[in-house]
Parts: sequence; C-alpha cells; structure tokens
Amino acid sequence: MLPDTGQLALMLARQIEGSGPISVAEYMRSANNAYYNRADPLGASGDFITAPEISQMFGELIGLWLADIWMRANRPAACHYVELGPGRGTLAADALRSVAQFEFFPSVCFVETSEVLASKQMESVPSATIIRKVEDLPADGPLLIVANEFFDALPIKQLIATHAGWRELLVARGKPGTFITVPGTHNMDHVVPAVVRNAPMGSIYETAPEASGILYELTSRIMKQGGALLVIDYGYSQPGLGSTLQAMKSHSFADPFENPGQHDLTAHVNFMEMANLAAMRELRVGGPVSQGEWLSALGINQRADFIAQKTPERTEEIYAARDRLVNADQMGDLFKVLAISSPEWPAPEGFETAV
Ligand code: SAH
Repeated sequence: MLPDTGQLALMLARQIEGSGPISVAEYMRSANNAYYNRADPLGASGDFITAPEISQMFGELIGLWLADIWMRANRPAACHYVELGPGRGTLAADALRSVAQFEFFPSVCFVETSEVLASKQMESVPSATIIRKVEDLPADGPLLIVANEFFDALPIKQLIATHAGWRELLVARGKPGTFITVPGTHNMDHVVPAVVRNAPMGSIYETAPEASGILYELTSRIMKQGGALLVIDYGYSQPGLGSTLQAMKSHSFADPFENPGQHDLTAHVNFMEMANLAAMRELRVGGPVSQGEWLSALGINQRADFIAQKTPERTEEIYAARDRLVNADQMGDLFKVLAISSPEWPAPEGFETAV
C-alpha cells in the first residue's frame, strides 16, 4: 500500500532521521510513485498538460511516422506498438487510428506503473497489454516504441562542485514537511564529464541512472528484434550544468523539496547522453531536433488545414493548438525529438541530421 502524500513527507523524514540523508533520486522516485498513483494529473483541471492532450494532430503525426517506417521496412509481421508512460492513452489511440489507415495493426504494449493511469489507458485502448518494466517487453518481433514526457519523470541524481571536489547532493530534513539538500561525503569526480569538471563551486551536474538503464534495455531489444524508439521530451542537447529539477502543481511551479508526492517532479532530459549511448551501440540516431521542426517536417500545417476544412467551427482552436505545439516561444523549441532505430531499418523521417 502506498503512503498518502502527507504520510510520505513524514515517512521520508523518519527514514532520514534514522539512517541519514537520501539521494535526490530516491526522494524523486518515492515522490513520483505516490504522485502518479494518487489521481490523474493531466489536463486543464490537473497539474500539467501534455502535447497529445492539446491536440489529436500530435498522436496522428506520430502514427504517420510509425506507419511510414514500418512500410519502408517491408511491413514486418508481428510488430509491436510500445508506449512508455502513456498517461491517459490519448497519444496511443490517435496514433493507432492513424496507422490503421495503412493497414498496420500492431499489437499494443504499455509500460506503466500507475494503477490510476493504467485503468484510463485500458479505456482508451482496450486491446493493450500493460506491463510495469521494459524487461518484460515482448521478445518476438520488432518494437516501435514511443515515449512522450516519460523520461523527464524518472529519478535523477545531482552532483555539486565543492572545495573538496564533486559530491552527490543528498536530501536532508528541513522544517516540518520540507527538505533541504546537503553535499555527501564521497568524492564523485569520476562521474562528471571532463568538459564540465572544472565548473565553479556550487555548480550542479545531473545524471539519470534509471533512464540510462531503461535506454540500455531498449537499445538491446532494438538491436536484437528490430524497430525504433521515438523520444519526445524537454531537455538539452549539450552537457549542461545547473539544477533542472522542477515541481508542477496546478500549471505553476512549486518547490520540489516541499510536500513530496503532491506535485509532479521532473528533470530535463539529457539527449546527448541518450544519443551517445545509442551511437556507441551502433544503432541509427536521428536528431535531436526541435519538436517544432519535426512536426513541421511531418506536415502538421497540412494536417491542421485538413481538419479545419472538415470542421470549420473548430478552425481557431486547431490553429491555436498547432501554434502551441510548434512555435519556438511555446513548446516548439524546448521540446526535442530523438529517434533511435535499428541499422537494418530504413532511416526515420523528419531528421535531416539522421546518420
Ligand atoms: N505520455 C503521457 C503522460 C506523461 S506523464 C502524455 O504525454 O500525456 C508521465 C507518465 O509516465 C505517466 O503515465 C506516469 O504514470 C508514467 N511513469 C512515471 N514513472 C514511471 C516509471 N518508472 N515506469 C513506468 N511509467 C512511469
């Protein structure tokens, strides 16, 4: 039984009191586990809104991208549509409707840990199989894997530059219900890439051990089984410094170290690390490119025109949603798209930089 969110702050405080400060990753894992199992956080009345909830065009264009690569790979049978952290299942429903037009009917597998969201996903896509970890993905055919705003929810570690070298930043007790961060005692210089190792005192460097583990498994599967992974998230393409840990509550920022479990904790995704891992394993890497660029290359403008012609009463809403997804001052620039695919599959669409 998961603790409710008031209890979680108390439980973590007791744990810290008893055995000392905990990793930021452990704090984030406990907080998000409680948060995502408490209620559906998505939508206008929730804490945050995601691209598939803004417009059907997002999932439809992803479906088009999937159908395109599948057809150019000569329509392999027994192909699986996999989605990581599918939220309400909206993206999957839109994408699957879109691929069906090309007579592509993959089996559907969702990776999800929240019971609340899993039940919404079953309503959106009743044929889906839901599993809790990527190790349990089907082993018998190519995998087409989509992850929108999934990797940002995974726990990160933070390292801080101190006079005695890099140390892991740990979470200690603050005032009741709040927490503070303190440097640990072990030297962590070896974890920080050389290009940023000489950063000024107080600089923070982040790593995402759980994301790396998941990516390692997914790249192994794609090498063995064929297919592709599409990652869409907010993040950076160069090694960076500074804390990107943030908490969202009712569409505003909150303090990540207060009231754990009552808001969504996320961190920016390190696309460079993901791309490097895939390239080192000799997979094909496309991007990262900005979401705006990618959706435009896939034809979001034509799609918007088409839907607006069919439903003229929704014209304003359709173009507003398009702008929100594509414009640089909205989601278009902050969000990036990365494709990792089997070298035996054709190059994916929408990435001029694909190698
Ligand atoms: N992709 C959806 C939802 C994004 S919110 C959308 O774009 O609308 C993050 C999603 O990841 C939620 O479904 C959450 O329950 C799930 N999630 C978070 N941590 C997870 C983990 N460790 N394993 C599997 N799913 C996780």
